[in-house]
Amino acid sequence: MEYVKGKPYFTDCNSRIKQYPYLNDDKYCDILIIGGGIDGAIANYYLSQKYDVVLVDKGRLGFGCTSCATALLEYQLDDFASDLKPYMSEKEICLAYKMGLSAIDKISGFIEQYGNKCEFNLRPTFLFSNSIFSKQKMKDEYDFRIKNGFICDYFDESNNPFPFAIKSGIFASNGGCEFNPYLFEKMMIENAKNQDNIFENTCIKEIDKSHLGFTVSTNYGEKIYCKKILIATGFNWEILKTKDLCERFITYSVVTKPLENFSWYHSALIHDATTPYHYFRLLPDSRIIFGGEDTLYKGDGIKEKLSEKKYKKLEKDLKNLFQDRQDIQIDYKFCGCFGATNNNMGLIGESKFDDDILLFISCGANGIINAMKGVEALDDIWQHKDNELIDIFSPKRKNL
Ligand SMILES: Cc1cc2nc3c(=O)[nH]c(=O)nc-3n(C[C@H](O)[C@H](O)[C@H](O)COP(=O)(O)OP(=O)(O)OC[C@H]3O[C@@H](n4cnc5c(N)ncnc54)[C@H](O)[C@@H]3O)c2cc1C
Repeated sequence: MEYVKGKPYFTDCNSRIKQYPYLNDDKYCDILIIGGGIDGAIANYYLSQKYDVVLVDKGRLGFGCTSCATALLEYQLDDFASDLKPYMSEKEICLAYKMGLSAIDKISGFIEQYGNKCEFNLRPTFLFSNSIFSKQKMKDEYDFRIKNGFICDYFDESNNPFPFAIKSGIFASNGGCEFNPYLFEKMMIENAKNQDNIFENTCIKEIDKSHLGFTVSTNYGEKIYCKKILIATGFNWEILKTKDLCERFITYSVVTKPLENFSWYHSALIHDATTPYHYFRLLPDSRIIFGGEDTLYKGDGIKEKLSEKKYKKLEKDLKNLFQDRQDIQIDYKFCGCFGATNNNMGLIGESKFDDDILLFISCGANGIINAMKGVEALDDIWQHKDNELIDIFSPKRKNL
């Protein structure tokens, strides 16, 4: 089944990158990570520092949904704090925001250690709406953040520094960062300790368990014997023979051709909260990556006709936003699947299938942020340590 369609910009521009072999022998390890997208790569980098880890991917590393991530990495969540209250306490919502800020620091630290080989930049975030109906909600969100110590400014028509119309908005100067998701994934993979235990083009077909542990079979019959399994297969759950881990959506993106003399206020990462919402940012060569127009994914592939309709709508909305630019031309169109939960958090931790099969599935618009912090919760589960993130990420939690 398809989870990505079109020509994703990030892999198209950077496809000539080191490849890893396929597995052609049996292997023993403590932890097997199935899936080498950005989630599997993050888990592999951190866990291989402590454990004996094997990572396998059925295709090329980073060519799944990772290749289409817009990579707006923000501390704010998909929903306003007021919408999250049925699913999380105020303390948990603040914890999720703080987790986002901490993930941004962690990404910065990683880049400082290995060098900036992935177009990383710290960026402010701007959440806005041009609808009069969202004005009160935006003000409430701003008050919530100020009350809880998050630094931000409130903008409206009277002080709007952006080149498009707004009715209300929240600008967080320390709110985010951006990178090329495919190149970041490569940095995680290539700096991991277990270089001889990373395999591409190796599909896992079957998982069996006995009192000795797991025996996992690949498409060509090789076996991997391991104590624990981490499912990092993105939004493809065929290996677990289930359909209902959480709701899945397709989100659509367009990338413009480079625009001359073009930028906006502090090159902020922008999220238009009006329904249907849009998210966008600038790429290093002055292109705009612009996404949204989500549709429910029913597990039956991505429909070509619907995708084309959504790309046209994105192009129209983008041109409407920047009406004084006559030179906006679309260069790339692509879409991919993502998972969504009620509290906007990923599915990270022990699964309902087996306590030794753990899920590592980042969800929502902040998937990558989830993965950067979620890996700490995993390690603490194994070490029987407390970690306040374990509950908000647990795949067994209520109200998914
Ligand atoms: C258009 C779009 C925009 C997005 N924008 C953002 C954003 O701005 N910020 C953000 O944080 N997130 C964003 N996301 C979400 C982000 O892309 C995901 O959270 C992230 O890519 C998930 O990574 P992953 O590694 O779990 O999945 P994937 O990249 O899909 O990787 C899963 C891997 O598992 C492998 N696999 C599957 N089954 C098997 C098997 N049986 N055996 C072996 N390997 C297997 C696949 O080949 C694949 O490579 C966006 C998503 C989309 C689609």
